[in-house]
Amino acid sequence: MSKPAERDQELFTDLNDQQRAAVFHGLDAVAVGEVPSPLLIVAGAGTGKTKTLTARVANLILNGADPGRILLCTFTRRAAADMTRRAQAICAEALGPRAVLADGLDWAGTFHATANRLLRAYAHVIGLAPNFTVLDRGDAEDLMNLVREDLGFSGQHKRFPKKGACLAIYSRTVNKDEDLETVLHHAFPQYADWVDELRGLFRAYADTKERRDLLDYDDLLQLWAAMMAEPDIAEELRGAFDHVLVDEYQDTNPLQARILQGLCPNGRGLTVVGDDAQSIFAFRGAEVRNILDFAHQFDPPAQVVTLEENYRSSQPILTATNAIIAQAAEGHRKELRSTKCGGDRPKLVTARDERAQVDYVCGQILAAFEAGTRLQDQAVLVRTGWHSGPLEIELARRNIPFVKYGGLKFLEAAHVKDLVALLRWAENPRDEVAGFRTLQLLPGIGPTTARKALAGIQQHATAPIADTLDAFTPPPAARDAWPDLLATIHTLESGATPWPSQPGIARDWYATHLERLHENPAARMRDLEQLEQIAAGYPSRGQFLSEVALDPPEATGDDAGAPNIDDDYLILSTIHSAKGQEWSCVYVLNCTDGCIPSDMSTGTVADIEEERRLLYVAATRAKNDLHLIHPQRFYRTQQAKHGDGYVTAPVSRFLPASVQDHFSRKAVGTPSATAKASEVSSARSRNLRAVVKSRWS
Ligand code: ATP
Ligand code: MG
Repeated sequence: MSKPAERDQELFTDLNDQQRAAVFHGLDAVAVGEVPSPLLIVAGAGTGKTKTLTARVANLILNGADPGRILLCTFTRRAAADMTRRAQAICAEALGPRAVLADGLDWAGTFHATANRLLRAYAHVIGLAPNFTVLDRGDAEDLMNLVREDLGFSGQHKRFPKKGACLAIYSRTVNKDEDLETVLHHAFPQYADWVDELRGLFRAYADTKERRDLLDYDDLLQLWAAMMAEPDIAEELRGAFDHVLVDEYQDTNPLQARILQGLCPNGRGLTVVGDDAQSIFAFRGAEVRNILDFAHQFDPPAQVVTLEENYRSSQPILTATNAIIAQAAEGHRKELRSTKCGGDRPKLVTARDERAQVDYVCGQILAAFEAGTRLQDQAVLVRTGWHSGPLEIELARRNIPFVKYGGLKFLEAAHVKDLVALLRWAENPRDEVAGFRTLQLLPGIGPTTARKALAGIQQHATAPIADTLDAFTPPPAARDAWPDLLATIHTLESGATPWPSQPGIARDWYATHLERLHENPAARMRDLEQLEQIAAGYPSRGQFLSEVALDPPEATGDDAGAPNIDDDYLILSTIHSAKGQEWSCVYVLNCTDGCIPSDMSTGTVADIEEERRLLYVAATRAKNDLHLIHPQRFYRTQQAKHGDGYVTAPVSRFLPASVQDHFSRKAVGTPSATAKASEVSSARSRNLRAVVKSRWS
């Protein structure tokens, strides 16, 4: 084995000087058992921030840091797995295969997943049931709705915010750590008159969660932050980690900043990485000031490393993305330089309508594939999950396999949710949302009957569900199916069939109802088989349920069939879920005003600026080919009464003429002879009017 100094020379040679400065920051301290001073890496897209953070993790370990005492916070579980694998590879290269980090990092994951683990570990001392259930956002909305109905807000008051809006207001109040009046005033002025009712609703929502041992995503962070405010627990947690590293820090909220402050009060051991130009989660309470103020939060201030070279995108793409962000109201940092030579200009494609957009994208994907770019190296990005609907149909028709990130997740598909609800109910009998859903799967049971049946369970909270339900008389239509449900719940609750065979038991029961409940039962059954395979990877029902609620597995394209891991498949993703990733070819759909920026987000200047950064994040994912597509018309059934049912859509305001100059232009789907002419790239266009006019000069 080579000595550390020589070894360090050999490792990390692929990094530039600034990256190496970050990777070696404070390593002298580590070598003598001390903790390095705080470090901030702030830099633009594709400059190697994540790569540098990963290398730093590996270097800390190579210099003696205990991998079990490193906390790595990433934005997704996928990112945590990727970074761990890469850090492992670096360690293996330095010391041989099984030397260190062979078992991975114990504490790499999202803030929420880490909170979930810590809260379970401390449940007994902080007044939580250790088998609490984590509600994903959809479940939290459903519970909010139940409470809203209980309080009588839904029927009588038409203008009272809907369940999604209620949860958004609640979540923002909690994550921003602000009072309700302030949040309503700034972000939801249309609901400002409901402040007392909303406060009552949120109190009842919190009470219900407490009674039923339920935690939503926001509770996970709030409770972790609350643990950090308890001196004895905070001290234990501080003692558990020597190094805390955070990627995508620009999208953390004030609660997360407080947690980090609690873990590293003087900043020692803390490394954060991010890009303020890519902050796209303010709508969920993220606070870009976290990163802007980071360095001076400590005394002495954090060391700041900036990176200026972009290793991802070709120069023409970078020139165009620099132009997009240069239009931002707030100045970000100076322009990035590409390390790559050559490359074509990105394309701004005007499509006659959505149909033409879909044809264009499929054609380009297949052409790139024929030319040697795997489907996995291509991604279609959308502002909102449902924007990809028409494309998904066409991909299925052309047999192009795809995997979808963000938007509708696998676990959000109705049939998968049904099955998971049954498992969740068995895990936690007080999980009202799960019980409410499960009971309504039976014929003849609607919300009112389901509530009546559940009322009995709440009174006998410690008794098994099956025993309590036994005393309930189901309506006539449900009578035949009732005993089978009770028997299944009994099997699941009693643990007579051990995990991971339980999803199979649940599926057998569900199969008898599937055809009546949903169309296309065969495809749905395949999904449920897949769920069983996923479940088999977890050691217990509780762990499976909380992990999938926290970071659900990505959906597979229903119609295209689930691709095998070795198969090649296209990526379809929301822009939010594409954070931190990169592909050779990127297609951004619906670059129109109304989609980017979204109609829903045009309230304030800050909202619009966040939408601009969203387009910037989308465009900076591309390495070699970038296509922004602008359909000129959308078919809308609501408009069918007036004219031909089409609404016209202008190109996104984030692509004014000065930005368009950096793209080559193309029009597709134009019905007449002009189509051919307009496919000519603007790079070759001439000002013929000036030529004609010149004879008079
Ligand atoms: P984002 O802002 O999108 O999260 P990032 O700053 O985290 O981007 P990375 O994803 O770490 O950037 O890196 C972008 C690409 O550049 C990756 O393919 C990475 O391997 C490559 N890269 C980074 N640094 C170097 C380097 N010094 N030499 C060669 N390639 C590099
Ligand atoms: Mg990154």
